[in-house]
Amino acid sequence: MKLQVATVASFVLVALAAAAQAVTFDASNKASGTSGGRRFNQAVGLPYSKKVLSDASAFIWKTFNQRAVGDRKTVDAVTLVVEDISGVAFTSANGIHLSAQYVGGISGDVKKEVTGVLYHEATHVWQWNGQGRANGGLIEGIADYVRLKAGFAPGHWVKPGQGDRWDQGYDVTARFLDYCDSLKPGFVAQLNAKMKSGYTDDFFARILGKNVQQLWKDYKAKFRG
Ligand SMILES: [Zn+2]
Repeated sequence: MKLQVATVASFVLVALAAAAQAVTFDASNKASGTSGGRRFNQAVGLPYSKKVLSDASAFIWKTFNQRAVGDRKTVDAVTLVVEDISGVAFTSANGIHLSAQYVGGISGDVKKEVTGVLYHEATHVWQWNGQGRANGGLIEGIADYVRLKAGFAPGHWVKPGQGDRWDQGYDVTARFLDYCDSLKPGFVAQLNAKMKSGYTDDFFARILGKNVQQLWKDYKAKFRG
């Protein structure tokens, strides 16, 4: 009897652990009646999208060096909804909203572009935001950094060394973060980890030993040619 109770208890524990780790990925298309929504179904599709959400999440945990579930944000489900909205996409909590109008207007490789957008948006689901105190340019730069490292940077992005400010956001900040990470591999993971509890630009100096303005100057000088 005692052995049975112990066995049942261990099964329950294993099941609980599995449930705690399992993140579900879901996708739906509410714009199937629009030309962009139809293009999404033809060129991308819901099964592939779900796989991208799963692959992107695993890639993000790796990039952020979050091997243990306890290191990650507590998220039960990541969902994608294709909608008849303007813009490109946005993420609210764990829900990614992709514009069917945008998908309809993509020139070139629709599947690759949508995949890149999903890596960017999935990063917003998982990244820390300094309890709301990190600047928006850095948040967007980290999302594009993940997209870059995953191999989905589109051809129209700025080249390394381009841009006016380190926190300009998106591709400009992503390229700069890539430079910072080259100085100390794992830099972006460390930066994200620090952003769990707050934010200050001084995080750059604490990790790399130089303040962010000096790093930006060094970066610009390196690529001046
Ligand atoms: Zn974004």
